[in-house]
Amino acid sequence: MLEIEKLREDFPILNQKVNDEPLVYLDNAATTQKPLTVLSAINDFYQQDNANVHRGVHTLAERATADYEAAREKVRAFINAQSTKEILFTRGTTTSLNWVAQFAGQILTPADEVIITIMEHHSNIVPWQEIAQRTGATLKFVYLKDGGLDWTDLNEKISTKTKFVSVAHVSNVLGCINPIKEIADLAHAHGAYVVVDGAQSVPHMAVDVQELDVDFFAFSGHKMMGPTGIGVLYGKEELLQRFEPVEFGGEMIDFVYESHSTWTELPWKFEAGTPNIAGAIGLGAAIDYINSIGIENIQQHERELVEYLLPKLKEIPGLTLYGPAEPRQRAGVIAFNLQGLHPHDLATALDMEGIAVRAGHHCAQPLLHDLKVAATARASFYLYNTKADCDKLIKALWVTKEFFNV
Ligand code: PMP
Repeated sequence: MLEIEKLREDFPILNQKVNDEPLVYLDNAATTQKPLTVLSAINDFYQQDNANVHRGVHTLAERATADYEAAREKVRAFINAQSTKEILFTRGTTTSLNWVAQFAGQILTPADEVIITIMEHHSNIVPWQEIAQRTGATLKFVYLKDGGLDWTDLNEKISTKTKFVSVAHVSNVLGCINPIKEIADLAHAHGAYVVVDGAQSVPHMAVDVQELDVDFFAFSGHKMMGPTGIGVLYGKEELLQRFEPVEFGGEMIDFVYESHSTWTELPWKFEAGTPNIAGAIGLGAAIDYINSIGIENIQQHERELVEYLLPKLKEIPGLTLYGPAEPRQRAGVIAFNLQGLHPHDLATALDMEGIAVRAGHHCAQPLLHDLKVAATARASFYLYNTKADCDKLIKALWVTKEFFNV
C-alpha cells in the first residue's frame, strides 16, 4: 500500500488550484510530475558540480563524469541490463527508436520485412516508414483483436523475411500490455530482432530486459518522473558492437585523421557531443525515487485505480471505452469518448473542474483510424493519483454530460 497523501508532499506542483478547483493531474502518459529529489538533484548538479564530462582532469569534470556514469549504472540496474555498455543516453524514446531504425537501415535490403503494429505511437512508425522507403524493405502492420494485439495476425505475418519486429510494451491509447517475451521468442525463432517501445511500461512496471530477451528497448525519462530531454536506448552489447553510430562528432571518436575516424568503445561510441548531463542525473534521481517506493507497489496502485474507475466509466451512458475490457490486461491508461461531444470540448470542460486529461489523436493516427475515430479523451495515472481523483473525474463527466445535454 502506498502512502499517497504523504508521497504527494514530494510533488508541490500537485498542490495547486486550476480554475479554482484542486488540480487533478491525469495526463501522466504525456508526461509525469517530478518529485523534489529530482528537482534538487538537477539543481545540485548545476550549483556544485557543473562541468563537461569525459574530458577534463579537473575536480569538477571528474565529479560531473562520475555523476553522469552513476546515472547510467542506475538505469542499468533498473532494467537489469548485463552491462552499462548496453545503456545509451538519448533525448527520449523518439530518438532511441530513430537510432534503431537507422541501425536497421545499415542491414535491410528490398527482400526484407519489418513488422510493427497498428497501435504504435508515431515515433515507432515514422522512422520505420523512412527506413523502409530508403532501403526498399516492406513495412507490415499487425492489427487488433479484442482491444489488444491480434496474436494470430502477428503469427501469420511473421516469416524468415522479417528482420525487425518493433512493438510498444504498453499502448499509450489502448493501455493494453503486450506479451513482449512471447513476441521476442517468436521474432527470434524467425531470425528477427525485437525492438520495444517501453515509454509507457518502464515507469509503471518492473522491466527486466534479459528476462524479456529483447534486442533493443527504448524509454523516456520524463514519463518516469525524470526531466525532459533525456531517454534511454538499451541494446544487446553484441548488436551495439555491430552497428555503426548514427551521430558523429566529439566524444564518440577514438582517433580522428584527415581521411577518416575511428570510434571509441561502448556506450560512448553512440553519444556524440556534450550529453544532457543534468538530465541523466535527474533520471538517476527519479530511479532512486521509484526504487524507494517500489515499482511493484506503483503497478499495484495503478491497477487498483483502473479496477476502481473502469466500472464507474461503464455506467455512463454513451461513453465508449477503448482497449481491453479486462482490467488485468491494462496499464493505467484509459481512452474514451462521450457520444455527441468532441473530446477537445470534453477535455476543456474537465479542465474547468481542475482535471487535466488529454484529448486528440495521441500521436497514434493509424490506430485511431483503425478504431474509426478522429480523437479520444485519455486519462492516465501515476503513483500520486488517488481514488478521490477518479471520483472527481466521474462526477465531472456526469456534470459535463448533463451540461451539454448529450
Ligand atoms: N511511445 C509511446 C508509447 C509514447 O507514449 C510516447 C510519448 N507519448 C512516445 C513513444 C514518445 O516519447 P517521447 O516524446 O518522450 O520521445
